[in-house]
Amino acid sequence: MKTASPELQKKIRELSKLSYKAITELSKCKSCGTCVIYCPLNIRKFNAEGKAITIITGSYCGGCSVCYHRCPNKAIRLVPFRNS
Ligand code: SF4
Ligand code: SF4
Repeated sequence: MKTASPELQKKIRELSKLSYKAITELSKCKSCGTCVIYCPLNIRKFNAEGKAITIITGSYCGGCSVCYHRCPNKAIRLVPFRNS
């Protein structure tokens, strides 16, 4: 079997250190509740203004992208950050 080049192995190592946070662009959120219903970790909640935000438990949400794909208003961005 062919092994990955050193450059590709380095890239894979870098990517494996990344996680994602789901961030809401509040001005685009129409408070439909879709992300709140579908988040498998149940960490999408409405804030005091009725906008859905991610309640981060620990340093990241998991970044599964369910909310990102389901939001009908494209109000959610997945922001990468480094684990360590
Ligand atoms: S990315 Fe996944 S775990 Fe994170 S808030 Fe969205 S649905 Fe929940
Ligand atoms: S799915 Fe989008 S528009 Fe609906 S509550 Fe969540 S962030 Fe707001």
